[in-house]
Amino acid sequence: MNGWNWTGPILDHHMHLDNTGMGVEAARTFKSAGGTSLILVHKPNFNSLPKNKDDYRAAYSKTLDMAETVRKNTGINVGVILGPHPVSWERQIDEIGLDRSTELHLEAVSSALEFTQERQAIGIGEVGRPHYPISEERWNHANELLIEVLKMAKEDDSAVQLHVEENSSETYRTIDEIRRQAGLGRDKTIRHYAKANLSDKFRHGMSCTVNVGKGSICNILDTWQNGNAPWGMETDYLDDPKRPGAVLGPKTIPKRTIELCDEWRKRGKREADLDELLHKVNLDWVERTYDWVPF
Ligand SMILES: [Zn+2]
Repeated sequence: MNGWNWTGPILDHHMHLDNTGMGVEAARTFKSAGGTSLILVHKPNFNSLPKNKDDYRAAYSKTLDMAETVRKNTGINVGVILGPHPVSWERQIDEIGLDRSTELHLEAVSSALEFTQERQAIGIGEVGRPHYPISEERWNHANELLIEVLKMAKEDDSAVQLHVEENSSETYRTIDEIRRQAGLGRDKTIRHYAKANLSDKFRHGMSCTVNVGKGSICNILDTWQNGNAPWGMETDYLDDPKRPGAVLGPKTIPKRTIELCDEWRKRGKREADLDELLHKVNLDWVERTYDWVPF
């Protein structure tokens, strides 16, 4: 047996598409490999960052337009995530100052939440904190800002995809603490670009989407146990003409799903449990987290 018997959706939990890149062509490639559904995450244009709330609305509209183009032209089910990137906030401090950059960031979150209220978007993101070293002062501001952002999400009970630094289990511990302070449920807080370590101890019980590079499937099966916190598979495809195929190419999720099934069988695990896992990863957990059915 090769591939999956699962007849439900095959979902990429975090993908970007760009008008200046492959755009809808990348979505077609995803579909040709077996993908049915994707979460399209707003991509900031770092060469021309929004300067006010109207700019943000205009930028978000482009992402919503892209989602609609993909739906119309490919039949793929697309859920949209909108929000201001933490790197935009950090960069704009140098241009417009800390106070204005922070204010603009919160305006952008509020605008994104308007789209989620209208259900044009299924959640906010990617928000979080810069993934590279910054001054202690900025780091503290980034954490305070993130609490504010998560509080706003909490008011709407909106799901949040988090872009954070890679510091192993410690990153999970600290964002779980921030989430708790903001009152946002664990079921609504998803760490994106996660390592393939799915033990609850490592994740502090937090949800995540794994960037499924080579070798990730074995690590997933080594560390995941039934009953652990939700997770999903993502490419973080950037659709950047200067970095074709980065972070992972659009065919990756269907390919890794086949690999997951093959490895599952190789390990002599039960077929029914595999079906249940695919059901959770591609449907149940997604529906619960985003209040969106990816099918
Ligand atoms: Zn991303």
